[in-house]
Amino acid sequence: MRDFDQNAFCPKCGFDKIHSMFIPSGKAIYGDAADRHGTSWNPVDRIERRCERCFFEWDELPLDAIKEPTP
Ligand SMILES: [Zn+2]
Repeated sequence: MRDFDQNAFCPKCGFDKIHSMFIPSGKAIYGDAADRHGTSWNPVDRIERRCERCFFEWDELPLDAIKEPTP
């Protein structure tokens, strides 16, 4: 998962207006988000991004997320 980028562009249509919503781990999730993660409970803290033009959704890591150590 990429780090949260407040200046992100939509990877599908290139739009620059991207909705952001923090989803804590353990929260119940539904629909597309549940399909994307293969579970009805959010597995990890994340920020859900959604393009305001084409409605593509993806996830980014919160800025305070614990990072895997880089080798
Ligand atoms: Zn888009």
